[in-house]
Amino acid sequence: MSLSYWLDQSKEETIPKDIVIIGGGIAGMSTAYWLQKYDPTLQIALVEKYEFGSGATGRNAGFITCGSVEHFNRLVGKHGKDEALEIWKFSEDNLTFLKEEIIQDNAENLLFEAKGSFSLAGAKSEFIELQDSAKLMKELGVNVEVINEMDIKTRTGGVSFVGGVKYLDDASVHPIKLLHHMKGRIEENGKNVTFHENNEVHKIEYRGDNKVIHTTKNKFEAPIVVFATNGYSPLLENFFKDKIFPTRGQVLATEAVPRFMEAPCYANFVLDYFRQLPTGQVVIGGFRQLQKDVETGYSDETSDVIQEALEKFLRDHIPAVREAKITHRWSGVMGFSVDGQPMVGALPADHQLYFVGGFTAHGIGLAFHSGKALADSLFEVNPIPGFLSAKRLQ
Ligand SMILES: Cc1cc2nc3c(=O)[nH]c(=O)nc-3n(C[C@H](O)[C@H](O)[C@H](O)COP(=O)(O)OP(=O)(O)OC[C@H]3O[C@@H](n4cnc5c(N)ncnc54)[C@H](O)[C@@H]3O)c2cc1C
Repeated sequence: MSLSYWLDQSKEETIPKDIVIIGGGIAGMSTAYWLQKYDPTLQIALVEKYEFGSGATGRNAGFITCGSVEHFNRLVGKHGKDEALEIWKFSEDNLTFLKEEIIQDNAENLLFEAKGSFSLAGAKSEFIELQDSAKLMKELGVNVEVINEMDIKTRTGGVSFVGGVKYLDDASVHPIKLLHHMKGRIEENGKNVTFHENNEVHKIEYRGDNKVIHTTKNKFEAPIVVFATNGYSPLLENFFKDKIFPTRGQVLATEAVPRFMEAPCYANFVLDYFRQLPTGQVVIGGFRQLQKDVETGYSDETSDVIQEALEKFLRDHIPAVREAKITHRWSGVMGFSVDGQPMVGALPADHQLYFVGGFTAHGIGLAFHSGKALADSLFEVNPIPGFLSAKRLQ
């Protein structure tokens, strides 16, 4: 975005850094965490336009699910068994790393629960795909269970579903508490990461081998810049214009009701979802498919069509909250990639500009490990896996 002379509050002085990370969501914070862990002496600035988590990270449903945007049988159809398993394991490891590095013994404070997640079919054709997926997954050693209509009713409180599967190793969390806790972990580890909120990056200039990163409040100079701007990336760098697509998702939340759900649920080919928080509130999202043409761009408004569909879903499928008061309605901007997989690595035109994003509605399940993958490649620990690499989209 351009900046007027009048609004420019940046100082003349340029602040030297080793790395500037743009974007204070889960991807930027995760990247800062791993870079600092690998080298605590690195001088890193994490720069966020608004407050940390004000993008999709503070607006999602908090599912930490494995896999990707589609059922496993389709993932195998696209990538073959080996790569599909690699993709699945990448997100399983995301959860393992989150537990080991960040959550540790703070599960209760972070509303973290590792109780698995369900994928429910409203139609027989989807249930057949889910059963096929479960068979493939079992062969590959993934923990999954097929469940019938009655199980769904008693275990999830959901009605009018014909069958489903349970992925036993999934989890859920309060995403903003997780983000702030991650920031706290970075601060505990040292003082070389500086945090800059309400500070928009509006221009990146070349100065010799370095970049000068102009923000509303500062000028940073660094050899390496990481874009962790997900859906907003095309606004900052043209490279992303045909690779990352800003896509809106909408949600509503009800007042607390007595607990009735064993674990969070996806429905309708991972497009719609609902979960009950440990504190009793129910969060329901999805139905973007009803207004695909409207659900793009950068507005965080809600629309009547989708909010009504969410309410109808609640009335038709979740009797426990049929009468519950709706307390919140919101939306958020996600970054969808071309093929549904995240994109991590250097931009082809400049190997000092990096990107970590394109999580296609699954960043809580992917970003922590993606930040590690970026750090692994910068420190030459491991190359970036092919399905993640920015190179595949050139
Ligand atoms: C309604 C909804 C439900 C979702 N549910 C789930 C779920 O249950 N599970 C799951 O895994 N994922 C879910 N997601 C997706 C998940 O929220 C995202 O994949 C994840 O938060 C992306 O994190 P991020 O850090 O890449 O992006 P963001 O959180 O969007 O962070 C990018 C940040 O960059 C900042 N920024 C942009 N431009 C600039 C600039 N010029 N200068 C400085 N800062 C800038 C933005 O302000 C923003 O804070 C959902 C998303 C939505 C919207």
